[in-house]
Amino acid sequence: MEIIKVNKQIRHHIWVKLSCEHCGEIVDDACGLNNPEYFFQIIPDMECPRCKKKADGPKFFKTQMEMISWLKTIIGDCNA
Ligand SMILES: [Zn+2]
Repeated sequence: MEIIKVNKQIRHHIWVKLSCEHCGEIVDDACGLNNPEYFFQIIPDMECPRCKKKADGPKFFKTQMEMISWLKTIIGDCNA
């Protein structure tokens, strides 16, 4: 699964909208911890409830700046 939107963020917890890379299934309001492990290990390793597949691997970033700008994109949606 991959994050497509951050719904809510309270202290160390985060509520996200996930989408499956394989079948497009949407999981709204999955709750997790707001830390890199959740973003880059737990979510990619999550099984899709519909097709039961996992992501092919964590979202890959060439540089840390690229990762930060991606995080800003999804977290930016939270305040929209
Ligand atoms: Zn799926």
